[in-house]
Amino acid sequence: MSNIIYLDHNATTPVDSEVRDAMLPFLGDNFGNPSSIYAHGREARQAVGAAREKVAKLINAQPEEIIVTSGGTEADNLAIKGVAFALREKGNHIITSAIEHHAVLKSCKWLEKQGFAVSYIGVDRDGIINIEELRQTITDKTILITVMHANNETGAIQPIAEISRIGKERGIAVHTDAVQSVGKIPVNVADLGVNLLSLSGHKIYGPKGVGALFIKKGTRMMSLFHGGSHEWNRRGGTENVPGIIGLGKAAELALMKSHADAERERSLRNRLLNGIKENVPDIIVATNPEKSIPNTLMICVKWVEGEAILLHLDALGIEVSSGSACTSGSLDPSHVLLAMGVPVETAHGSVRFSLGRTTTAAEIDRVIETFPAIIRNLRAMSPETPVQ
Ligand SMILES: *Cc1c(COP(=O)(O)O)cnc(C)c1O
Repeated sequence: MSNIIYLDHNATTPVDSEVRDAMLPFLGDNFGNPSSIYAHGREARQAVGAAREKVAKLINAQPEEIIVTSGGTEADNLAIKGVAFALREKGNHIITSAIEHHAVLKSCKWLEKQGFAVSYIGVDRDGIINIEELRQTITDKTILITVMHANNETGAIQPIAEISRIGKERGIAVHTDAVQSVGKIPVNVADLGVNLLSLSGHKIYGPKGVGALFIKKGTRMMSLFHGGSHEWNRRGGTENVPGIIGLGKAAELALMKSHADAERERSLRNRLLNGIKENVPDIIVATNPEKSIPNTLMICVKWVEGEAILLHLDALGIEVSSGSACTSGSLDPSHVLLAMGVPVETAHGSVRFSLGRTTTAAEIDRVIETFPAIIRNLRAMSPETPVQ
C-alpha cells in the first residue's frame, strides 16, 4: 500500500497507530464486560468511562450526553427516528436538506411511510442551505430540523448555529450530522446550539463500526435498541469496548492535531485546486474553498464519466471517489450536485479528492502532474466532447 496515494479520507481514514495500540489490550487480556462487578468488569467500565469523557471533551459536551452507537449511520437513525417518535403527539413535520447523507435522507423517507411529513430544503451554487426557505417551511407541526454540519461530497459548511437559533425560537429540536466536520473544523455543541449531533469513529482515524450521538440533557428521545440499561437506558447492548476505546483515543488525537492538520490540508487542497484549474479547461468546481471543510475538493469534468477518471487514477495508484461513496457502483449522478443546479451530464463527471493527516505535497504534485493527461485522453475518446 505504501506507493498508493490515498485521497478518499471522507470515505474512511486509516486507523492511527496510537488508536490501534490503545485498542489492542481490549482485544486481549482486558476482555471484561463493563457491567460485571469483579476486576475484569471494573477495568473495562473504567476504560469505557474515560473514553466517553474524551469524546465529550472533543465536542464540549458532558459524558452523560454521549450515546455510543455502531457509527454515524446509527447515530443519524437514532436521532431522527428517536425524536420523531418521542414527539409524535406534538407534530409530524420534519425539515431536512436535499444534500444530506443517505443515513439521514433514507431515515426521513422511511418516516414519511410512517405518517410523518418531510420537507427537503434546497441549496445555492456553493451547496449551502437556503435559510429563508427553511424559515418559511416551519409550521406549528414541525418537531425536528436535521441539517448536516459539513457535506461529505463538496465539503460545504452549513449555518448550523443560525438554524439552532431558529429552532430555539420555535421550540423545535435541531440535529446535525457532524460526521464530516468533527476533527476538521471546531465542533462545539454549545456554540452550535444543537440538541443532537452525530459523529463517526472511522472518519477521524478511529475504528469502523463505532460512533456517537450527542443528546443534550432534557431532549426527548425514543430508543431504537431495547435491552439492558446500557447508555443510560437509551441503547441496550453490551458495549463495543475495543471500539469505544479506539473512538476515545481518536477523539483525544483529533483535539490535539486537528488545528495543524486543517492548516496543512487547506494549503494542499488549494494547491491541488489551482493546479487542476491551470491545467484542465472546462471543469466546474463544486467546492467553494472559502465555505468548506479544509480537506475536500469536488470538481466536475465536462464530457467524461467520473467512474472512468477513477479507474484511470486507480491504475496509477491514486485513490479518489466519484459522487458519494454509497452510490458508487451505481451510475446515478450525485443528488448533492443536482441540488446545487449542476446539469446531469456534468454531474456524471464528478471527482472528489479528500485529503488527510498523512497527505504530502509530493502526493498532491503527483496528482497535478498526472490528472490533466488522463482527462485529455478520456476526452479524446468521448463522443460527448465538442469538436474544437
Ligand atoms: C460516513 C458518513 C456517515 C455514516 O457514518 P458510518 O459510521 O459510516 O455509518 C454519515 N454521515 C456522513 C456525512 C458521512 O460522511
